[in-house]
Formats: sequence, structure tokens, C-alpha cells
Amino acid sequence: MAPLRFEIVTAERQVYADEVDMVVAPGLEGQLGILPHHAPLLTALQPGELRVKKGGEEVSIFVSGGFLEVRPDKVVVLASTAERAEEIDVSRAEAARKRAQERLQGRVEEELDSARAKASLARAMARLKIAEKGRRRRGQPGLLGQ
Ligand code: ATP
Repeated sequence: MAPLRFEIVTAERQVYADEVDMVVAPGLEGQLGILPHHAPLLTALQPGELRVKKGGEEVSIFVSGGFLEVRPDKVVVLASTAERAEEIDVSRAEAARKRAQERLQGRVEEELDSARAKASLARAMARLKIAEKGRRRRGQPGLLGQ
């Protein structure tokens, strides 16, 4: 099958750009698989793992939300923030997870604070999972559970 031009950009930088075989993105209503010649589409993404498949290899990228657009010539993700697995700072994600858990365990008086802490926790957990997957793929020992 003809490859699919795929790009992920944030306001700050281009996170990924390549010709790929398939993209699986975290759509608001679940995993969204995009193959070459997909019909035009614009959809929102939720925080989570975006997987890119190319030549039998798979790359995992964290996206914190944004939009995916299937254009006639390429597929573009405009992400709020995005990091490739190897770019994820595990200590920072661990600290964010701890902070969010402490907020949720403490007295959360405002509904809004609780929602923010939950969203922050979801981002941290997704980053940790993707970083761990990336390390395993690169044959490096895992960091979690030690
Ligand atoms: P934190 O609480 O650690 O700031 P956050 O989820 O609130 O995390 P975001 O608002 O999603 O952070 O991202 C802000 C910027 O920091 C973005 O450029 C994002 O790519 C980067 N970033 C956040 N967490 C990490 C991480 N663990 N590793 C690498 N980059 C990160």
C-alpha cells in the first residue's frame, strides 16, 4: 500500500513527520485507526498514546489532546503538547503523578481542582506507560516497579 504522510505539530515544534503505514490515535470515542486513502476527517483527540506503524516497527507518542485531520495529501495532528516516548522525562512525570495523587487524596474542595488533578494524573500515567514501552522497545531495562 502507498505510504501515508503523517505529521504531528504543536505550537512549539514539529514532533514527528514521516511516511508511515498506519496511525492509531486516541480519539474522543476510542482508538482511531488511519490507513492510506482514508476519507477526509477532522476529529478531537483525548490525552493518551498515539501509535505509528511503519515497516513492522511501531513508535509510541504521547499527545495531551488536540485534533487530527485527514487531508487529501497527508494526515496532521495538531497537538496541545506531544512527546515521543524517548523524549519523556520520567522523573517529571513521576513528580506530576505524585502531585496529582496527593491533591486527589487531600481535601479537594473545588470540583474544578478535582477535575484538574484527575486530568493531570491521566497525563502523567499515560506518559509513564509510553516511556516504559519505549524503553522496552529500545532494549533498555524498565524503570517502573523498582
Ligand atoms: P507537569 O505537571 O509536569 O508540568 P503537564 O501535564 O501539566 O506536566 P503539559 O502542560 O502537558 O504538562 O506540558 C507542558 C510542556 O512540558 C509541554 O511542552 C510538554 O511537552 C512538556 N512536558 C510535560 N511533561 C513532560 C515530561 N514528563 N517529559 C517531557 N516533556 C514534558
